[in-house]
Amino acid sequence: MRATKAVIHLDNLYYNIQQIQKYCGNNIRLCVPVKADAYGHGATRVAITAIKAGASFLAVASIQEGVDLRQAGIVTPILSLSLPTPEEIPSIIVHSITPLVFDKEFIHSLGSDAKKMNRVIPVHLKIDSGMGRIGCFPQDTVEIAKAIAEEPNLTLEGTCTHFAVSDSLNPEDIEFTKKQIAVFSNAVKAIREAGLNPGIVHAASSGAVLQYPEAHFDMIRPGILIYGYPPSKELSKVIDLKPVMELETQVVSIRKVPKGTSISYGRTWIAKEDTLIATLPIGYADGLIRRLSPGIQVLINGKLYPIVGRICMDQCMVNLGSKTDVKRWDKVTVFGPDKKGDSAWDLAEQLDTITYEITCGIHKRVPRVYLGDPEI
Ligand SMILES: *Cc1c(COP(=O)(O)O)cnc(C)c1O
Repeated sequence: MRATKAVIHLDNLYYNIQQIQKYCGNNIRLCVPVKADAYGHGATRVAITAIKAGASFLAVASIQEGVDLRQAGIVTPILSLSLPTPEEIPSIIVHSITPLVFDKEFIHSLGSDAKKMNRVIPVHLKIDSGMGRIGCFPQDTVEIAKAIAEEPNLTLEGTCTHFAVSDSLNPEDIEFTKKQIAVFSNAVKAIREAGLNPGIVHAASSGAVLQYPEAHFDMIRPGILIYGYPPSKELSKVIDLKPVMELETQVVSIRKVPKGTSISYGRTWIAKEDTLIATLPIGYADGLIRRLSPGIQVLINGKLYPIVGRICMDQCMVNLGSKTDVKRWDKVTVFGPDKKGDSAWDLAEQLDTITYEITCGIHKRVPRVYLGDPEI
């Protein structure tokens, strides 16, 4: 196998889910987002561990992601969080993917195709309470719920919304989220007052799971928490989490270079003294973003060393200094669960982004190696 791999610690995934369940109480259902190949971790293996840990739903971003899970043999309910196109309706029906719906045109098309295929399809009604992305406007909720109820081959299995700033501690953001919760709660109440059952009510992604117990409703949808990161730095102390992905590689060469030697494209780094340079077989095409150098450090035998010079497409170089105990073939951790200044947070901060983008950005050519699968 390639030296560069993403080790996926399934025991940490299981631990994180247990931590979340402990924090929220056992009578709240859990929907585990496995969209974008489980934030880069590998959707099928993550899904299986999540089901072992008690997930009652999986969430994907497209019908195809749902179909892939079905073809891997997964029978747990799958919620698709983004809007499907009319061409995807047959797949929704054949593979039992639960779509979010919010407009009459789509509801009617899905309802009539389901009738033709003699199937009853569960749907979740999405309400836009302030995210500004998808969903019906709150004042249209009852009308849309009725449109679903009028389709004999559709059932309103759930009602949901999504928050825009639930991971923030800024007072204005807290006020905004509280408003979203109130708008959504009132819309759900209106469905009940119209004599309809809203089904499973759900709203909370990771931020609201930690900050707004009143928004847990019947089910929570924490994504990044499951993968071992708080949704924002401000919320890092609320529960203990263990990062699931460890991006590692190996030292494939160590060469002593004289003072004045330039390293890599553009000659941006010049050795100030005679020094040992290690070469690593990982580059930006693996997801080690070029802009991370200068700045990023990697962990070798418990010590941090800087990447020097430009990160190339497939390789990069590390300065080991004039004396080192690092040997050829030693393991190198780019980020992982050790929390010794080599967390995906450090990479995210340097790139002015979020940990989500770091793990999602690890390229497909990096093999995922699964460890610690809980035996249940
Ligand atoms: C991605 C997503 C989630 C999970 O978000 P996290 O911040 O990772 O917890 C939940 N709900 C919806 C609708 C999403 O798109």
